[in-house]
Order: sequence, then C-alpha cells, then structure tokens
Amino acid sequence: MSTLYQSHTGFWEVVIGLEVHAQIVSQSKLFSSAPTQFGAEPNTQVSFVDAAFPGMLPVLNSFCVDQAIKTGLGLNACINPVSIFERKNYFYPDLPSGYQISQYQYPIVGEGWLDIELTPEEVRRIGIERLHLEQDAGKSIHDISPNKTYIDLNRAGIGLMEIVTKPDMRSSVEAVAFLKKLRMILRYLETCDGNMEEGSLRADVNISVRHPGEPLGVRAEIKNVNSMRFVDQAIIFETKRQVDLLEMGNSVVQETRLFDANTGETRSMRNKEDAQDYRYFPDPDLLPLRLKNDRIERIRIALPELPDAKKARFIETLGLSPYNADLIVSEPEYAVYYETSLKALGAYTNTYPTPQDAKVIANWFLGDFFAHLNRTGFSVENTPITPSRLAGLARLVLTNVISGRIAKDVFSFMETEEGSPEDIVARHGLKQVTDISAIEHIIRDVLAKETEHVTAYKAGKDKLFGYFVGQVMKASQGKANPQTVNDLLKKLLE
Ligand code: ADP
Ligand code: MG
Repeated sequence: MSTLYQSHTGFWEVVIGLEVHAQIVSQSKLFSSAPTQFGAEPNTQVSFVDAAFPGMLPVLNSFCVDQAIKTGLGLNACINPVSIFERKNYFYPDLPSGYQISQYQYPIVGEGWLDIELTPEEVRRIGIERLHLEQDAGKSIHDISPNKTYIDLNRAGIGLMEIVTKPDMRSSVEAVAFLKKLRMILRYLETCDGNMEEGSLRADVNISVRHPGEPLGVRAEIKNVNSMRFVDQAIIFETKRQVDLLEMGNSVVQETRLFDANTGETRSMRNKEDAQDYRYFPDPDLLPLRLKNDRIERIRIALPELPDAKKARFIETLGLSPYNADLIVSEPEYAVYYETSLKALGAYTNTYPTPQDAKVIANWFLGDFFAHLNRTGFSVENTPITPSRLAGLARLVLTNVISGRIAKDVFSFMETEEGSPEDIVARHGLKQVTDISAIEHIIRDVLAKETEHVTAYKAGKDKLFGYFVGQVMKASQGKANPQTVNDLLKKLLE
C-alpha cells in the first residue's frame, strides 16, 4: 500500500528514488595509498595523487573493489564482469584534478533489491538500479575566516559506493525504512560503517508527485541529506511544495535543492546538470576493470549471515519473538553479543541452547543490559558486563542458585566489581536458601510475630498469604527460595 497525499484536488502519490553515498571501509583510498582515518589533522592524509600533482597516476585499490562486490552480493545484485572508470568533469575548489573518477555507463554492480518491512504483514521490495565506485572530494571550510575558504583534502580520493535505487518508494516512511535497512546490511557486511554524523553515509533524495496511475512527474533532487530525520522532514516538505505548485497550475522544475535543517525547508541550489555537462569519458589512466568469476564466488562464499536471515533463524530455531529478534539483529554488535552469551550459556550445560536459554538471555540483554548501557554510556564492546559474565548470571538463576530478584542485585554488583557472578554471589552471601529447615525456621519466627494476621487469615482473609510471603522473603533478605517459601507457608498455616 502506498501512502497517498490528500489535497483538495484529490489524491497525490509521492515517488521517491535515492542515491546513497556510502564511504567504503578501507585503510587506504580508492586510487592511492593515503590513509582514510576520520578526524585527522587537515591535509595530513593526502598523497600526490589525491592532490592531483601533474604526472601522478591512480592505482586501483583492489580491496575497495572486493568491498563493492561484497556489497553488490549483499544487495542481491548482479556483478558486472567488466566495468569502466570514467572522468566526471566539474570545477570545484575541493576537487584539485578538476574531475572525479567515477563509473557511468558501465558500473561494477547492476540491478538488485532489498526488502523493507513496513509492518510484520507488509514487506516491500525496493529495486536497486546500480552500484558504482567513485572517489570522494575534499572539503571546503568556510567558517574559519570571514574572507577565506580553507581546503582540507583528507577526504579527497576516499572510495565511495554510490547506490542508486529505482523510483520505488512511496512515502517518507518507506524511504527511511530503506535507508535503515541498507545501513544495517552495510554494517553487517563491514563495507561501510554507516556513520551518518561523520558523513560516511549520505543520501540524495529524488522526489516527484503524480496522481496515481499517471506517468512519473518531474523530480527535484535534494542533495546530501545526512540523517534519517532530515530525510523524513525533507520529503514531507518537498511533497507539499510540489503539490501546491501543481495545484496552482504551475510546474515543478527539475533541479537540485538543499535541505536546511534549521528551517525544515528545501531550497533551490542550482538547475540540475545533465550528464553532458559533466563531459564523461573513460579515464585513460585506468584499464577497464575485469572481474574473474572465482573472485566473485570467493567473496560470495565468505558473506556473513545478513540481518533478515539471522532474524528468521532466531525466530525459527531459538523461538524468539519477532519483536525481540528485530531488536537483537538491529545492530551487528548486538547480535554478536547475544549469540556469544548464548553460546557461553550453552557451554556451561554442554548442550545446544534451548528456547528457554534463548529467552532468558534475550530478556537480560534487552532489559537490564540495555538499561545499563544507557545509564553508563558503555558500549556493547567495552562494558565490564561481558557476554560470558551475563551468561554466568543467567545460569545462576536457571539453576536456582539465586532468585531472579537477587540476580538484579548481582547484576548491579557486576557493573562495578570484578570476578565472576559466582564470586560476587559468594562475596556478598547472596546464595539462595533452599535448605528446608532453615526456611521453616524463618517462617515460624515470622508467624510467631504476626499472631493477629494469622488469626485473620484463618478466619478467611486469604489475601494475607502474599503478605506472609513478603515478610518471610524480607526476613531472609531475599535469599529464600520463593517456591519453597510458598510450599512451606501453606503447610504451616494449615
Ligand atoms: P541522475 O543520475 O541524473 O540523478 P537517474 O536517472 O540516474 O538520474 O536517477 C537518479 C535517481 O532518481 C534514482 O534513484 C531514480 O530512482 C530517481 N528518479 C528518477 N526519476 C524519478 C522521478 N520521476 N521521481 C522520483 N525519483 C526519480
Ligand atoms: Mg543524481
């Protein structure tokens, strides 16, 4: 179902296609050996090639090529056996060579797709048109001096994958869902870190509107939108702008627009260049890129399990709820942490994890553990609550060494104290009391002090049972086994 925009002349359909720039995870640049680390001192990661010194020749980084192939395979796309690097010519101060090496007619990756889940019942397949390799430009910095522009070339030459979708999305919700899914896949593949704040992932958003059933309308392209929220806002604003124009009898012009995060509006930047304005031609310094089949197959075989497959496995073989499975696969580090804890728990019992184990670990992970991360600012990777410690804690509960209630205290101690959960339980004397005579002793003490309530209970005030349980647990400092307390209390009150 597509979301229609209603106005007084009827319904409008929004059509969206995205061009996503994803910075390739790689130690060095696409055509030079200069490093790519984010946040380095300006102009410290620039080779003669990146600075376009005369006579310097580009050398293709084959790791970046592998990364593009891997991404193409992760997007269910065909990998083209031959692709061509071309020069896209334009003049800009942060582009010292006066052209960007990109791919145009013959990209490395052709058509593919990915699925977005709008609701558990509604999955939409979004077509990928192509993925091509290109270099990033440098950065112009305008806010250091009022009358000078500074140039930082650290980013110049870093490898990008431009991923172009078909005009298949029909609402801002779908566009955001697509970007989230794409980001997730790239992060699982480790081909792009997906960091939108640092600009590793940014999208050009193409938008047009039409009455349902009509041919595609004229589109505007909103450049370089760098957060999910801005994508959403930009589409909503742009839809209304175009509908208003058309309803007043005006037309939409094909142009490039900018999203202004301060006003939430888009404004015209320039008329859209045509391909001919860029005077594309094959780069004479680079041979056509030919890929052998075994190289592609080698990468295909080594692909990691992707989020959809992982989610399905969590639901089918571990019995997790779709909701929990979604949360756990949403970031690759979460899934790694979860599976490592589950494996550690399995190692204790030397069995394949049961659905009960899977659920217990999921509850700890999504409950106390997430709260711990939020509260402390630790990341999944550097928290002192390691997967094996969490598994150790879960095991103590599953084997009735401590109650679920006490386990929460043990978890708090684990945040600041060293040692295994067992050590902590011993250190603080938190072991559950299961010894029947000890518990009976506590119960008799409590009942002896509560003669009035006992009389009331015996006269029919059943609700007091819970009160007695509470008092006994309190007297045992939470360490009595709750089941034993229940059973014994019943017996002794009779
Ligand atoms: P260009 O490279 O000139 O920007 P493309 O034809 O390659 O143009 O399209 C770029 C993006 O624009 C693609 O994601 C495509 O799906 C999208 N697109 C094309 N036509 C429309 C349209 N009429 N409405 C919305 N998006 C469109
Ligand atoms: Mg474009």
